[in-house]
Amino acid sequence: MDTLLSSVTSDSRVVDAFPGRFGQYEFPVDKVLSNQARLESNVRSYPRRFPIAIKRASGAQIEDTNGQVYLDCLSGAGALALGHNHPEVNQEIVNQLSAGLPYQTLDITTPVKDGFVNELMAFLPAAFAEDSCIQFCGPSGSDAVEASLKLAKLATSRSNIFSFHGAYHGMTNGSLSLMGNLNAKARRSGLMPDVHFFPFPYSLRCKFGSGGEAGERASIRYIESVLHDQESGIVKPAAIILEPIQGEGGVLPASAMWLREIRRITSELGILLIFDEIQCGIARSGRNFAFEHAGIEPDILVLSKAVGGGLPLSCLVFKKKFDAWDAGEHAGTFRGNQLAMAAGMKTLQIIRRDGLAQNALNMGEILTAKLRNLQQRQPCIAEVRGRGLMLGVEVVKADVMDVLGQPLADPELANNIQRAALRHGLIIEKGGRHGAVLRFLPPLNITEKQVNYAAWAFEQAVGVCAR
Ligand code: PMP
Repeated sequence: MDTLLSSVTSDSRVVDAFPGRFGQYEFPVDKVLSNQARLESNVRSYPRRFPIAIKRASGAQIEDTNGQVYLDCLSGAGALALGHNHPEVNQEIVNQLSAGLPYQTLDITTPVKDGFVNELMAFLPAAFAEDSCIQFCGPSGSDAVEASLKLAKLATSRSNIFSFHGAYHGMTNGSLSLMGNLNAKARRSGLMPDVHFFPFPYSLRCKFGSGGEAGERASIRYIESVLHDQESGIVKPAAIILEPIQGEGGVLPASAMWLREIRRITSELGILLIFDEIQCGIARSGRNFAFEHAGIEPDILVLSKAVGGGLPLSCLVFKKKFDAWDAGEHAGTFRGNQLAMAAGMKTLQIIRRDGLAQNALNMGEILTAKLRNLQQRQPCIAEVRGRGLMLGVEVVKADVMDVLGQPLADPELANNIQRAALRHGLIIEKGGRHGAVLRFLPPLNITEKQVNYAAWAFEQAVGVCAR
């Protein structure tokens, strides 16, 4: 299986490298799949877009129960930094299982935990790590976001939180209240109060109608003026929380200038700055953490997904001066997942040893160039954007504008492209406004051949679907 895509060197040979049914694959429904539809709740989401059952996976490749092989540019929604079943991570987990340590230890320490903490601290910028501490949270990203909100409120004795249009911080009550996407909120009531939303940099759909640096400066001016206006109706928040690169919102990287300005404003006014790097952290952006592109630091950093090497783990890293907790004031049974700490430690080590932040930059550049080349030939592609191996392609109805004079998003086309890509053996994520952004989140150790394959399969998919 490892070699299935490895002979891909040019477009014509891609098809040959694939085991049959290529391009016309019809996704037969086997027993496992029909059982899922029968037994699992309506709430299931990915299976509707990827009607497959996974048999095995290795690196960036997945094989389904019918023997079809896919290149995985979803990576467990960014949780699998090294792809599937990295041999060294697997071995670390096996060693851990053989060592006789507990599976989980609440927040009692072990040599494995100590190793993980040291590795994570070494992975962080030294100046940030120096006066920061770690808080392990319940295993999901949302759990860690909840903890960050509680901590910020506690440390500042304030209750307002500023979030951003397009933000995604999780599905629990507090984290969902920070969410931009209205579909997820439409049928919810009683969400956490005191959240205020501001425009996030998004040149193509700039809330100020200007886009580019002018749009970002307008966003900063708007936030700053609200904070200084005694008649703005919005009291000073405990914290501003943001993703330095919005993921689910449509792959929107904030510029270094915008992030630095947010840091300046929050520092001047004593507002905590929380960076949610659950998706964009751990080398995905081409630096260990996306905030490093701006040369600034948050007060609280929220981590999950890849930090556990693909197993459930989440934590906060924050400045010790904001460590306002009393002992046990925030807790959680599954804070001490030893297997995840072992896998996470190994993953961080491998990312550093193998220079995978740089690989993310290099491979991201190659993929971006190929996607931009496709954009020249496909008017339905309005924008190709992102940083490192977190890339998005926004599709629109060519030459049709919405009421605001912006390109009209084409969610149906995005759906079709995602499905056609799957038929061509490529798994990609989808998100953004109206779900019209196709998203690439491949493993950080993806090879150039695999990138070429992804670009080729994507081009076929767009070619089949674009009108
Ligand atoms: N924050 C960000 C930036 C995310 O991308 C996600 C998950 N997509 C979360 C928080 C929530 O993490 P989880 O699904 O593990 O609760």
